Amino acid sequence: NVILAMGTQGNPRKLGVPGEDLPHVLYRLVDPAEHRDQDLLVVGAGDSALEIAIALSDENRVGLIVRGTEITRANEVLTKDVLSRQATGQLTIYFSASVKEVYPGYADLTVRGDVTRVAAELIFLKLGADAPRKFFESIGITFSGTGKDSRPILSDVHESSVPGLYLIGAASGRDLIKLGMNQGYEVIEHLMGREVEPADEAVLKERLPYWEGTVRERIAMLRKRAPLLAAADEQQLRETFLSARVREYRDGEIIIRQNDYTNDFLIIASGRVELWKKPEKSDAEVKLVDLTAGNFFGEMSLISGRRRTATARAVGDTRIIEIPRKAILKLLGAAPRARALVDQAFLLRAFGGYLFPGIPEAQLGQLVELSVVNNLPKDAVVFREGEPADAFYLIRNGMVKITKTSGEKEVVLSYLVAGNFFGEAALFSDADRTATVTTIFPSDLIKLSKRDFNNFLGAHPDLRQAPLQKLEERRIASLIADATPGSGNILNDLIREEVVMGTQTLIIDEHKCIRCGNCIAGCEGVHHDGQARLSLTGIKFYNLLAPNSCWQCENPMCMLDCPPDAIVRDPRGEVYIKSNCIGCGNCERNCPYDNIFMVHKEPKRSIFSWVASLLGKGHKNDVEQTVAVKCDLCRGISGGPACVRSCPTGAAIRLTPEEYRSTLEELVITHGER
Ligand SMILES: Cc1cc2nc3c(=O)[nH]c(=O)nc-3n(C[C@H](O)[C@H](O)[C@H](O)COP(=O)(O)OP(=O)(O)OC[C@H]3O[C@@H](n4cnc5c(N)ncnc54)[C@H](O)[C@@H]3O)c2cc1C
Ligand code: SF4
Ligand code: SF4
Repeated sequence: NVILAMGTQGNPRKLGVPGEDLPHVLYRLVDPAEHRDQDLLVVGAGDSALEIAIALSDENRVGLIVRGTEITRANEVLTKDVLSRQATGQLTIYFSASVKEVYPGYADLTVRGDVTRVAAELIFLKLGADAPRKFFESIGITFSGTGKDSRPILSDVHESSVPGLYLIGAASGRDLIKLGMNQGYEVIEHLMGREVEPADEAVLKERLPYWEGTVRERIAMLRKRAPLLAAADEQQLRETFLSARVREYRDGEIIIRQNDYTNDFLIIASGRVELWKKPEKSDAEVKLVDLTAGNFFGEMSLISGRRRTATARAVGDTRIIEIPRKAILKLLGAAPRARALVDQAFLLRAFGGYLFPGIPEAQLGQLVELSVVNNLPKDAVVFREGEPADAFYLIRNGMVKITKTSGEKEVVLSYLVAGNFFGEAALFSDADRTATVTTIFPSDLIKLSKRDFNNFLGAHPDLRQAPLQKLEERRIASLIADATPGSGNILNDLIREEVVMGTQTLIIDEHKCIRCGNCIAGCEGVHHDGQARLSLTGIKFYNLLAPNSCWQCENPMCMLDCPPDAIVRDPRGEVYIKSNCIGCGNCERNCPYDNIFMVHKEPKRSIFSWVASLLGKGHKNDVEQTVAVKCDLCRGISGGPACVRSCPTGAAIRLTPEEYRSTLEELVITHGER
């Protein structure tokens, strides 16, 4: 027998861009102490990239280049460490970024679509490494496929397709020390003729409790049922299931609710699920789709970062595998075929729900192949008023504004968040664009060209009626909106000041406000620490004030890097801070709208410590502690937000995005102040 444990370090992945062979591009960091006061770049978002960036950032100016919009693959401790270093300015993270070209002393990066030149005395590439495939195949080892993510095919005991040749460690695709050690132990035990149970077996049996057999057998059964699981390998699934749970639902029980802010990803292990949606301004639910065992749902919130777009109900007894957002993102990052399936379902369900409600997904598959994803930076013009209309768009994530020129001025007609469509008139008419669309934040847009859409309808004439009806509804709604006089200016202000990010924004009508201070007193009164979560400073437009008080953002930046995960969001959307806050201040720095307040918490004092402090012998627990506080919409207190309840004139109101346009328009018009 031969055990191969030769690692992957001899075969590092490369960038494939001009200049990467220059001598200042390195694959290894020997000793961080060798570097001081240098401009350094680290490329990658796995554990080793983060470790290097952290090690170098104490004494150097370090930029970490991350391809995605967030760090999902690395372990949590390292992720939190780099994020908090970024928050304190110790290093810079370039998200949605890649290296375009390398030059001596600097590099051109593409960051959210824009090219930026940054200083780089050294560049560390940490893009992972691959098994020496050519060599392995030359000695007869077969792989699971031809793609980059394929691995050598191994038996339960890590024996390759060559009898007596075992593979362990990174070269077998298991790139963690503990995994490699477990494999080595298992191979030796096997060769010694002893049965051995994998180290994670007992925990995983608890995580997958409803089935019989070993974890390997349970996973094999689930992989047979769910194509998404079959697209990942057993080891990846073992890691994912460590943080998942399986729940049983009875017939009719709600699994997720439309408009909730939950973001677990859900796979139907057995039973059936129906997805129902309540369209805007309607009380009646419409059934979207019937999902059977092996299907998944929850991809809309996962990809767009928004609220649930549908309610899911169990049909008969149903078992659901619930995978937390971080864990599923990690799995999708490591298993490209699984990622493609999720992306495909997102598109199918988004197109289906909007243009072809009630049409089975199977008939819409071709639409997915015809769509392309455009990654656009902030302030990018998607198309301009007057241009030929040639495509239709779906916002995968991000936000856009729709504007029109009126005389010399640009008037904002509306803004659209992830999950919405625009440009649909192009699909059925030859008219030019009647408005300009610009991104407000970096956005991923899915584009379907008019030509491809018409070819698709040509092949499926029976599907023509559904989108036509939908487009007519939209056209009428936009005519009504356009007829509302002057609404554009208010929307423009809301977008410029980013108030549109809020889902429950406090607005004070200054014409009605008599400066009694009851809103602040009311807020102080309902919190046990007596601290107001509101200050009468903030963003002013016309006679309105959006005071400094949490807006409960659609995508809360404050939650990005809380080391103890103390700042969280509940399913109804309220962002609140738990008692384990350590007062690091990251959330205060991350909130772009100054809506978090750091306050001193009174130490808990007993009569003894009070006497001791009088004698000058205070205990260390008596030291004042700083914690973060923010508005949580008076969570858990009946009657709703105290500020609104305490205002004697009705000047303080909380608005949802649906209410911004009509309510603010009315408040401004009522007082004739434009
Ligand atoms: C920067 C960095 C940080 C990491 N941090 C962590 C961490 O915190 N925790 C964790 O669990 N994992 C971490 N890893 C991953 C971990 O290092 C690997 O999973 C582990 O080292 C793999 O062990 P291995 O024995 O398979 O390969 P290796 O450790 O690479 O060992 C392979 C050995 O085989 C030798 N070899 C190669 N080819 C031949 C040949 N033809 N003939 C003879 N010898 C040969 C090599 O010289 C080497 O000594 C990190 C990796 C990197 C790069
Ligand atoms: S604290 Fe700031 S970032 Fe967080 S939800 Fe409120 S307004 Fe948004
Ligand atoms: S101050 Fe508290 S809530 Fe805010 S990030 Fe730090 S620990 Fe989390």
